[in-house]
Parts: sequence; structure tokens; C-alpha cells
Amino acid sequence: MFSLDDRRRILVTGGSGFLGSYLSEKLLEAGHEVLCLDNFFTGTRMNVEHLLDHKRFELLRHDVCQPLFVEVDEIYNLACPASPVHYQFDPVQTTKTSVLGAINMLGLAKRVKAKILQASTSEIYGDPQVHPQPEEYWGNVNPIGVRSCYDEGKRCAETLFYDYYRQNNINIRVMRIFNTYGPRMHPNDGRVVSNFIMQALMNKPITLYGDGMQTRSFCYRDDLVDGMIKLMNAPDHISMPINIGNPKEFTIKQLAELVLELTGSKSRIIREPLPQDDPLQRKPDITRARDYLGWRPTTELREGLGKTIQYFEQLLSKHGEAEAV
Ligand code: NAD
Ligand code: UDP
Ligand code: UDP
Repeated sequence: MFSLDDRRRILVTGGSGFLGSYLSEKLLEAGHEVLCLDNFFTGTRMNVEHLLDHKRFELLRHDVCQPLFVEVDEIYNLACPASPVHYQFDPVQTTKTSVLGAINMLGLAKRVKAKILQASTSEIYGDPQVHPQPEEYWGNVNPIGVRSCYDEGKRCAETLFYDYYRQNNINIRVMRIFNTYGPRMHPNDGRVVSNFIMQALMNKPITLYGDGMQTRSFCYRDDLVDGMIKLMNAPDHISMPINIGNPKEFTIKQLAELVLELTGSKSRIIREPLPQDDPLQRKPDITRARDYLGWRPTTELREGLGKTIQYFEQLLSKHGEAEAV
């Protein structure tokens, strides 16, 4: 049973984004206070509109690159654009967000003795030469390519987490998130799931990059956030990185075909060039998550896509094509 003694004041950076808004909702449901911080670069007020009247919810417009002085018990550090289109829009700002954001949030955690979780990423493995990827793998990342601002920014953030841990005894959690999809993804986000669904619903061509044989493993939002909260609440010795993702691997071509089937769309598939440094395969080894957190994903791609399609359909009927995208 939840008692008032269990209530914590929790900072969620990037809290009005796709994952942060759902996380904030779940933390409020669990009885906590949520301070949601966002600079609204890719997140929107619309994502947290339904929480604004909640008495334990507070929304703060702030950039994590700037210092922040608040009193909190826990920090979920999610602030950072996640889609290649968005993180490559202003790559210098992307690196700053990961690196300065981590420094400021770790400095805050140190001052107020808060527990802090970093939303890291499978991108720290780059274009992996080990498959599936276990946490022990150091990765294969191009340090000077167009994806580097994100990959190296997140790698440096991990470095900072482990140095603050060793140097200042900060209570850290590091979660390596693999491709996640679901309702509240930005319709114009540029990621494959939102692109394909929006294209299918608007009967526009489905843009398949390369030959479509590259693979990803798609995790549904609810499973992911469940793993995130489990990791934050795990015993303190679980400070090593943990992969959270769905180990079922699909080619991007299979994803396109599934979206066409589920939407009943007449869209045709067209080929576009594969972006630079696009990883050819990706699939998490989730042994640690299973053994240490008792976590595993339960939502099949078909089911999760169905719910995501419904969300985008509603968005289109509410706001129309021009405004939704
Ligand atoms: P998102 O773009 O919807 O959310 C990121 C949020 O951070 C947005 O609300 C954005 O406005 C905010 N933000 C960006 N820069 C900021 C700054 N300097 N200061 C304050 N706020 C800032 O993306 P998401 O999918 O919800 O991703 C959340 C986190 O999870 C990110 O850190 C991302 O790198 C990580 N992640 C996500 C995935 C995925 O597949 N969704 C995979 C791996 C890692
Ligand atoms: N910081 C912050 N909020 C706090 C405490 C620190 O934003 O409550 C920032 C601070 O501005 C600093 C960074 O976190 O730049 C790192 O803090 P730390 O104490 O590790 O380093 P120092 O202040 O010694 O540079
Ligand atoms: N992709 C695609 N068409 C699109 C968007 C993406 O074929 O309209 C491909 C992309 O090249 C990559 C995969 O889908 O191989 C996943 O891309 P996404 O941007 O969603 O995530 P990430 O590359 O960061 O895993």
C-alpha cells in the first residue's frame, strides 16, 4: 500500500516529450509529485495538457543546459531530442543538451542527494558488430559523422554518470533505451514508426530508406516506461547500465508491410537513400533487465502498432492533415 511517506518529489527533464509525458502520468498515478521540465524543442504542452490541473503536477519551461536549483528526491533525465531529424537540426545544441544537461542534473543530484536515472540509448553501440547487443559491448560509433552529436553526447553523459558515481558517490541508474514507439510520438518526428503510420493514413508514399533489410527491435511505450520505473526503484547496487527494449527484431521492410496491412492503406512503398551511418542491425540482449529487474516486454508489435495507429487517426481527425504534421 502506498503511504504518504512513500511520496517523492520527482523531476522529469524532457517531461513534455513522448516518453517523459507518459512517465509523468505514471508517476502521478503512483502518488508522487512531478516537476516536469522542458524547453519545448520537440515536446509540446499538448502532451501534458491533461496533467496541468493535477495538484501534484508542475510544468517548468527550462533548458537543461542551464543550472537548475530545485529540491527533489529523484531525477529522470530524459531531455534530448531523440529522432535523427531533430537531433541533427542543431547538432551543437544536441551535444550540449546531453553533456551540459548531464553535468547540471548530476550537480543537482549531488547537492540534494537525489537518485538520478539517465535515459541513455542503444545508439551508444553505434553500428554494432556484436549481435544482439549486451551491455558489456563497447560499441562501434563514428565520432565525426552526422549521428555523432547524439551518439557521442549520450556516451559522454554515461561517462559523466560513472565519474560522478565514483567521485561523489551519486546514486545512479543508466538505462539504454532501444527504439520505442507509441501514442504521443510527434507526428512529424521523422522516426520510422511515426513516418510510416502518418504516410499510410494520408495515403502518401511510404519512404523506405535503403533496401529495407536493416533491422530494429521495437518496444511499446508502456513496456518501456514500466522498465524505467522498475530500474529507478531497483536496489542501489544496480548501478550498471541496463538495456531496455523488445528483443523481437524486424526488418524495416517488414514494418512497412505491417503498417500497410493494419491501416488498410493504398500507399505504395518508395525507396529513398539510406542515411549516413544508419545502423544495419539492432537488437537488445535483455538478460540483465530480466535477471535484475524481473522485466520483460509484453506488447507484441502488431498490438502496439494498432494502438499507435488509433492515436494518429484521432490526431488527424481532430487537427486535420495540415496541423497534425
Ligand atoms: P522526445 O523528443 O519526444 O522528448 C525529448 C524531450 O526533451 C522533448 O520534450 C524536448 O522538448 C525536450 N528537450 C530537448 N532538449 C532539451 C533541453 N535542452 N532542455 C530541456 N528539454 C529539452 O523524445 P523521446 O522519445 O520521448 O525521448 C526521451 C529520451 O529517451 C531522450 O533522452 C532520448 O534520447 C531517449 N531515447 C528514446 C528512444 C526512443 O526510441 N524513443 C530511444 C533511445 C533513447
Ligand atoms: N548545479 C545545478 N543545480 C544544483 C547544483 C549544481 O544546476 O543544485 C550545476 C552547477 O551549475 C554546476 C554543475 O551542476 O555547473 C555541476 O555541479 P558540481 O557541484 O558537480 O560542480 P561545480 O559546481 O563544482 O562546478
Ligand atoms: N527509416 C525508413 N524510412 C523512414 C524513416 C526511417 O526507412 O521514413 C529507417 C531508417 O533508415 C532506420 C530505421 O528506419 O534504418 C529506424 O529509423 P529511426 O529514425 O526511427 O530510428 P534510428 O535510426 O535512430 O534507430
